[in-house]
Amino acid sequence: MKTIIIGGVAGGASAAARLRRMDEHAEIIMVERGPDISFANCGLPYHIGEVIQDRDKLLVVTPDTLKAMLNIDIRVRSEVTNINREEKTIDIRNLETGQTYQETYDKLVLSPGAAPIVPPLPGVDLPGVFTLRNMQDMDRIKSFVDTRKPVRAVVVGGGFIGLEIAENLHHRGIEVTLIEMLNQVMAPIDYEMAALVHQHLIFKKIRLALGDGLKSIAKGEEGWLKVALSSGRNVDTEMVILSIGVRPETRLAKEAGLDLGIRGTIVANEAMQTSDPDIYAVGDAVEVSYRPTGNRTNLALAGPASRQGRIVADHICGRNVRFKGVIGTSVVKVFDLTVAAVGMNTKTLESAEIPFSSVIIHASNHAGYYPGASPMALKLLYNQEGEILGAQAVGVEGVDKRIDVISTAMQGGMRVYDLEELELAYAPPFNTSRDPANIVGFVAANQLRGDVKLVNWDQIDQIDRHSTTILDVRLPEELALGSIDGAINLPIETIRQHINEIPKDRSVLLYCQTGQRSYFASRILQQMGFDCYNLSGGYKTYSHAVGRQSNFDVFEHVSITSREEIKEIPPAIPLSVREFSVDACGLQCPGPILKLYNKIKEIDEGDVVTVYATDYGFTSDVEAWAKSTGNRLLEVDTVDGKIAAKIQKGAAKTVDERAALGRNKTMVIFSGDLDKAIAGCIIANGVIASGNQASMFFTFWGLNLLRKNEHVGVSKNLIERLFGWMMPRGTQKAKLSQMHMAGMGTAMIKGIMKKKNVDSLPIMLQTALDNGVHIQACQMSMDLMGIKREELIDGIEVVGVASMLAASDDSNAVIFI
Ligand code: FAD
Repeated sequence: MKTIIIGGVAGGASAAARLRRMDEHAEIIMVERGPDISFANCGLPYHIGEVIQDRDKLLVVTPDTLKAMLNIDIRVRSEVTNINREEKTIDIRNLETGQTYQETYDKLVLSPGAAPIVPPLPGVDLPGVFTLRNMQDMDRIKSFVDTRKPVRAVVVGGGFIGLEIAENLHHRGIEVTLIEMLNQVMAPIDYEMAALVHQHLIFKKIRLALGDGLKSIAKGEEGWLKVALSSGRNVDTEMVILSIGVRPETRLAKEAGLDLGIRGTIVANEAMQTSDPDIYAVGDAVEVSYRPTGNRTNLALAGPASRQGRIVADHICGRNVRFKGVIGTSVVKVFDLTVAAVGMNTKTLESAEIPFSSVIIHASNHAGYYPGASPMALKLLYNQEGEILGAQAVGVEGVDKRIDVISTAMQGGMRVYDLEELELAYAPPFNTSRDPANIVGFVAANQLRGDVKLVNWDQIDQIDRHSTTILDVRLPEELALGSIDGAINLPIETIRQHINEIPKDRSVLLYCQTGQRSYFASRILQQMGFDCYNLSGGYKTYSHAVGRQSNFDVFEHVSITSREEIKEIPPAIPLSVREFSVDACGLQCPGPILKLYNKIKEIDEGDVVTVYATDYGFTSDVEAWAKSTGNRLLEVDTVDGKIAAKIQKGAAKTVDERAALGRNKTMVIFSGDLDKAIAGCIIANGVIASGNQASMFFTFWGLNLLRKNEHVGVSKNLIERLFGWMMPRGTQKAKLSQMHMAGMGTAMIKGIMKKKNVDSLPIMLQTALDNGVHIQACQMSMDLMGIKREELIDGIEVVGVASMLAASDDSNAVIFI
């Protein structure tokens, strides 16, 4: 049997090696266009970054060693230019001599891979513009970096390869601008998970331009390039790497009349046979089945290519084997983070119209008390039957292990409930006794069993604030990290004492930093009859996702043309200050912040404390915390894989300064007088217009203004009925506090308002509501005065005093009317 293999890298080399092991007598010819075979293309970016220093290490085997070991006829620098299926021959051109000759085959294996996409845009062929696919591309880029020593580079495309190149160029001291057309990097993961990557890239000082595309590249001065983006922005750079994706190399297959599938890939059956049973195809160029849906897809990853090569060899040797399809298990390193995914994500599920639920947890890679623990975000997507549809994880360590576990579970047809039961290896340096893969199973199963109802970060904006109380169950010290607008802080430790203050006729949305404490709190409230929802992934996921994702404009007006200028000068610390350090490694947020808070309390103004942490959320948290507490963040960096944040204690904030932090206004409307209510509404609408938040807390006589003008039949006892009858009902009945003059004064002022085109009080009140002013009725006063909820106009929040106090904490003025 004579088999010819076209392409000598991942799929081709795997097929050749297995074929020889299966059949010592087979004639095997491997034809490869390039000078190398079986090189580690996945390692190419790391040699550019000098992480892999020895180039030869990327050459897993040379043609000579492979020939000696496997007795394969290897023809490098040779390109197959044509396939003649009738005669079962191929044309091969020797790229060194230019000669073309024919070779017959019994079986042909196509493993031609995929070529980087070069968009048809002006300037993509200029010197200094590169793509990366093979050792020669790598040599060109590395030599450019070594000799030219560029200061700036632009990487176009935020996929696996783009991110790896960005990291490695950064490692060489180059300031990198990463341009990505989508609103996120790493398309296989969901937006809020990618947000963690964005924050990390920004932390690493990558200039990140999301939602922007390459428009053209032009020559600038002294060898610089001018990159124009579709947004109209421009970047000066010395080099550009295009990594916007790959296109399967299927010209040969197409010209040979083989069936082609999606994106021009070669159609193959489960044995990897093309429409011609004597021709097999594997790797990046082939269409495969996507196991979760059975749909056809194309997956350009080394693992599937190599497994398919092995299957082809077995099938040629008569074994009954089949490739079951792919589920897209992938992993990539992005600076200090590992990002991994398997299966479907929100976008692919939505476009396939597959109903699903999802949960996000933040868990530790190993026991927190064992040095070096770090958190990871793990997201699971599943359907109502508990079938696992996909998973994604972002963290420092142990991310690949969890995705591999879930990927194996998916391939074994396991369900969410099986993740709860998984027995995995545990000892403190490696794991927690409940592995993150178990925990994500617990949370998903809790949701499926109805033990918890979940809300995702992107649903927060759609929540009806008038019918939902938002409870932040974190400690007050954690509020400096930020909070969700309108939330009331009720730490979980105190929730049982304050349970009666939480309105029962409203839904309750609970959140904490990671979603765990709020889950505990939601269990308490749910069992007390509340309709509870827990924010999946907690404030951590929410704040990352709603935070700023791009930092490109920060650099927009900076023109850097020499290496010296990009050095950052750390702020000088006077010699006299005392320096302290706090080890918060292994603690998950808010742990590091709380440790910092306690240390800051002990030290003197001007002293400096360095906090070491392993939770990457701390990098953004510490910035927000320092800003809101008047301390000074001197620098944040990574040292030996740990985050080191240097904070200088500032002067204790005065009351005025603290108040200046929140520019919101809280009003307590005690009076039911028309003029006072008008004044309150004018102020509230003004506050909103100036971009701040206003809340109006109506209590006692003020409550009458919130009553509907018409009578509402509700059940009341005699005293309540009498009281209700004696009190004015609604804004129409409100009187002036002075000069009422048996109704004449009030009628006059209403007339003047109408004439001067000033809105009436009911309209003002409705405008305030429409504008988002929190209009709150005091529950306790309502009880005292016998006013029922049904009697109030729509849109009013009935709250306890804690709500008013929480709003006033965030305000720099509380106005009593
Ligand atoms: P290739 O390995 O690309 O081999 C195809 C070969 O065929 C090429 O050498 C080409 O010269 C040759 N060829 C094509 N046409 C002809 C012809 N007519 N005649 C002769 N020879 C021909 N995957 C991962 O899973 N993890 C990673 O971390 C990862 N990192 C990567 C980093 C980089 C920079 C790159 C470029 C790829 C990376 N990949 C990674 C993808 C992975 O390398 C590919 O999925 C895999 O190599 C595909 O194998 P293949 O055999 O289909 O194609």
